[in-house]
Amino acid sequence: MSIQPKKMISEKVQSMEVSATLKMAQKARDLAAQGIHVISLSLGEPDFDTPEFIKEAAYTALKKGNTKYTPVPGTMEIRKAISEKFKSENGLDYAPSQIVVSNGAKQSIANIFMAILNPGDEVLVPAPYWVSYVEIIKFSGGIPVILHSDIDSNFKVTAAQVEKAITPATKAIIFSSPCNPTGTVFTHDELKEIGDVIAQHENILVIADEIYEYINFTDYHVSIGTFENLKDRTATVNGFSKGFSMTGWRLGYMGAPQWLADACNKVQGQITSGAASFSQEAGAVALNAKRIETVEMRNAFMRRRDLIISLLKEVPGLKVNQPQGAFYVFPDVSAYFGTSNGHETINNADDFSEAMLTEAHVGTVSGSAFGNDNCIRLSYAASDDEIIEAVRRIKACLVGFLPNPQNK
Ligand code: PMP
Ligand code: GLU
Repeated sequence: MSIQPKKMISEKVQSMEVSATLKMAQKARDLAAQGIHVISLSLGEPDFDTPEFIKEAAYTALKKGNTKYTPVPGTMEIRKAISEKFKSENGLDYAPSQIVVSNGAKQSIANIFMAILNPGDEVLVPAPYWVSYVEIIKFSGGIPVILHSDIDSNFKVTAAQVEKAITPATKAIIFSSPCNPTGTVFTHDELKEIGDVIAQHENILVIADEIYEYINFTDYHVSIGTFENLKDRTATVNGFSKGFSMTGWRLGYMGAPQWLADACNKVQGQITSGAASFSQEAGAVALNAKRIETVEMRNAFMRRRDLIISLLKEVPGLKVNQPQGAFYVFPDVSAYFGTSNGHETINNADDFSEAMLTEAHVGTVSGSAFGNDNCIRLSYAASDDEIIEAVRRIKACLVGFLPNPQNK
């Protein structure tokens, strides 16, 4: 008797999409392994090394034997550092008992949805959204309710849209600012308007994903949890992956109302037992230090943003947004829908992204993975040379595809 994987794998996992960001990054690696020179602008990962003093802190932690389980929500040392960071940088009041440190912000988000969702509960997800929100919501039994926005509003949903989407089944709203994949940063007033709508309804949790906080080219970063009427119902998610260039350390965290922190602690206790001990020790050192490298990396990203935007604007047919943070640009490529270069046809953003990979050897991610069918995402967490060469290739490749003037 043989085993039938189709029967073995749960329906939940069978209906789960593979992470599009990770999938495209892998496709680019596969082509590179065949000897093809691929420029991968698909994965959202800073290309800088982790600052030396943070690595030193991890070596020290290991050498002194900090290699054992920590308390499930994190060591008191890192939770204190996070609580102080929330207070001093964001104006948020989360006591150390309200902090849960996890294996990346991804796990913080998974903990929250596993902790709050019952089958049929709805979660409002402004689009474009980060790929994993929707899959984690579905996996946790919830129903993602997508709120659409477009490039002309710089990808901002309005309070009126949020109001209209709320039903008795609405349990939460989740968004990122600065946003992955658009780089949009919400202003105080925009968040206040949306927040005021939420606050009028009982039992809707706000999940503010602030993982790109430090990669912000504006002079404001507003934490929605500071609004008086949302204080007791906001979970603020953040992490070390982006601002400290620590993707591989798998270290993220959230501050939340005590009831939610307790529930997430319970989930985490059964699922991972928490984040790595030496990552936590180094993370506390990172948070307690000045943000020197963080600011340097932010400045480099801003320069690269300007570079890639100016280059993309020279590509006929692309409509380019103006990102204000993170390290992504999300151009509208729909002018190319319905075109062909003789052997590849572009009918949608998936085709466009695929054609750029196979024809131009540039890895991007289709906007469809982020809830937008007209755009693609390019990560400019890459060197100037890579950015210049990638856009040159895209531009040259697109000469073969004649944009349909009606779509312009
Ligand atoms: N939120 C957003 C918006 C992201 O882009 C990412 C990407 N990694 C995460 C959360 C998760 O980050 P990590 O798990 O590496 O902390
Ligand atoms: N958040 C990054 C991205 O959007 C890393 C990959 C992932 O975790 O999805 O590309």
